[in-house]
Amino acid sequence: MTPPAPRAVIFDLDGTLAESALDFDAIRAEIGLAPGLPILEQLADVTPVERARAEAIMRRHERTAIAGATLTDGCADLLGHLAAREIPIGILTRNVREVVESFARAFAFRFAAIYTREDGPHKPAPDGVLALCEKLGARPAETLTVGDYKFDIEAGRRAGCRTVLFRRQPMTAAERLEWGSPDLVVASLRELLPLF
Ligand SMILES: [Mg+2]
Repeated sequence: MTPPAPRAVIFDLDGTLAESALDFDAIRAEIGLAPGLPILEQLADVTPVERARAEAIMRRHERTAIAGATLTDGCADLLGHLAAREIPIGILTRNVREVVESFARAFAFRFAAIYTREDGPHKPAPDGVLALCEKLGARPAETLTVGDYKFDIEAGRRAGCRTVLFRRQPMTAAERLEWGSPDLVVASLRELLPLF
């Protein structure tokens, strides 16, 4: 049986809608963090002064990356399709609000709600997904989350949404184990058009 069409969609930003050259290794190196480990988790216990310095470094990288961003494959088609069907779109990102807003301005997208690291617990916590569902007026079970990383899958699943992993190459067995299984894996956002 085909599940009903989702009533709302929550997208990750970087690597999902925006093809942005956000260089996490360079950010970690400049802040002085351990390589390979997620940045925000490493900053959880630093002093306010260290946090402010790290935030300034992150924002400089994030602003530069979004200024040069293009759209991922199928992004314009899918967002146009959702807009035509009046399906509200939420953005859930570990990035900051001004970056989401400049992306929306640059490509003339309208997002019904945005949740960033300034708004509360970040992915993989489900808080952002739940807050966005509320704002979008859809229950988690009626909402699709779409992202390109394990935190996106985990946050969506913990909130009770259907989850989509956007990824060009198939998941490896090790990733399936570590990331859990998303409900769908797509290599282009265009593959989601028939869901709506
Ligand atoms: Mg991403």
